[in-house]
Amino acid sequence: MLDLIITGGTVVTPHTVAELDVGIVGEEIVAVGQPGTLNADAGRVIDARGKIVLPGGIEPHAHIGIPVPPDWTGQPDVMTQPPEAASRAAAFGGVTTIIDFAGDLSRKALRGERRRPLLEVLERRRAVFRDHCYTDFAFHYMLAGECGHQAAGQIAEALQEGVGSFKIFTTTEVRIPYGHLWEIFAEVAKHGGMMAVHAEEDEIVNYMLEKLKREGRDQAYNMHLVHNNLSEDLAFRTIIRLAEHTGTGVYFVHTTAKEGVRAIAEARQSGQPVYGEALHHYLHFTCDDYKKPDGMAIHTYPALKFADDREALVDGLLDGRLCTTATDEYTTYKGPKLFSDRIESICGGHNGIETRIPVAFTKCVAERGMSLQRFAAIIATNAAKILGLYPQKGAIQPGSDADIVLLDPQLTKTLTVEDLHADSDYSIWEGFTCQGYPVMTLLRGKVIVEDGKLVGHSTDGRWLKRRVGGDVLARPAL
Ligand SMILES: [Zn+2]
Repeated sequence: MLDLIITGGTVVTPHTVAELDVGIVGEEIVAVGQPGTLNADAGRVIDARGKIVLPGGIEPHAHIGIPVPPDWTGQPDVMTQPPEAASRAAAFGGVTTIIDFAGDLSRKALRGERRRPLLEVLERRRAVFRDHCYTDFAFHYMLAGECGHQAAGQIAEALQEGVGSFKIFTTTEVRIPYGHLWEIFAEVAKHGGMMAVHAEEDEIVNYMLEKLKREGRDQAYNMHLVHNNLSEDLAFRTIIRLAEHTGTGVYFVHTTAKEGVRAIAEARQSGQPVYGEALHHYLHFTCDDYKKPDGMAIHTYPALKFADDREALVDGLLDGRLCTTATDEYTTYKGPKLFSDRIESICGGHNGIETRIPVAFTKCVAERGMSLQRFAAIIATNAAKILGLYPQKGAIQPGSDADIVLLDPQLTKTLTVEDLHADSDYSIWEGFTCQGYPVMTLLRGKVIVEDGKLVGHSTDGRWLKRRVGGDVLARPAL
């Protein structure tokens, strides 16, 4: 006997898009069959007529419950919203798995004086989310500073523990110099992990920062001149060369420019396992929006670019050069977010985790005719594959976790901040009309959002062990 049948919906599976019934026992999908073929005496039957039935969204890039630099906000002790709030917002937005970060970014660690053992840092971070998260969760392990030999010694252990991916920066005070990166890349490749890379060319960024200050052009709306197209081009290509020498898989977080999309495409064409992410607001806004009233609310590092960059990101998602959508979720209130008006201290990020799926549906499916299968890939399946959660997550098929979102393609919704569920008082999507919206979310067979109400519990979320597949690390497998 089935616990749950979802019937009558347009179901997106790895193999087809069709009107199918989905049968669930406990936390798992056990059957996907023609309408009416599953045993009808289920514990509950969910009528999904008129809805699209998709794998639960995977948010591959979020910063939850962490300190915000005081020079960004003008005040001490500002934190991004805690897991309860972020995962609540995520659940309403059809997201069932959040991949955040763990890492020791203390001053002592960055100076190389004392770095906490990786497994200890991981456990501390798990403790922040455990019993406080409505969705499942995992962490990229963040490495920073001159940490090559120390980090390399712990990478095998971390992968063993189920970390799966490591995040590094090539700019800001957490940047890792290339020699150290070389060692880390080699070690990650050897033991089968993915590198998640924030790639900007540090020298170009710093040069432009100083130049604009010197010339009195350091207004916040010039962020795209600091974190610019050339910087992305150089940094992406350096990382790709490094990865080729070490045989490492790379996941570029927040691709922002046509140059980044091109660099990824060329690497993939030559057979390198390189994957790119686009943030959902980069599919809509450009650097021109920085000049509007409160325009810096849309700023997420590196920086929004120009209209042709935005088109390259949307096109890249449509034609396969880019693989995933994310938000770089980083939620504060409007006051701290908009405190600075200078290029050197703009607060990054925004409350995005809830809006990614409806915005991506609007920009890619409704406006550009993306197939539903491709849409499932860019909101869930590809992130699951690249970051080592597949086939447990990211697919509607027997054996996978019953993480499912029902999206109503007929529901048009013009967003206001009151519609959203983050701990925040603004939304960059105020007034944006979504053509299609998530209406029900299931986490491992349990309905967590229904009829506009949160019915899950903050103890529902579990930490997920990850292991990236060999095919994904060997070649551009998706
Ligand atoms: Zn980020």
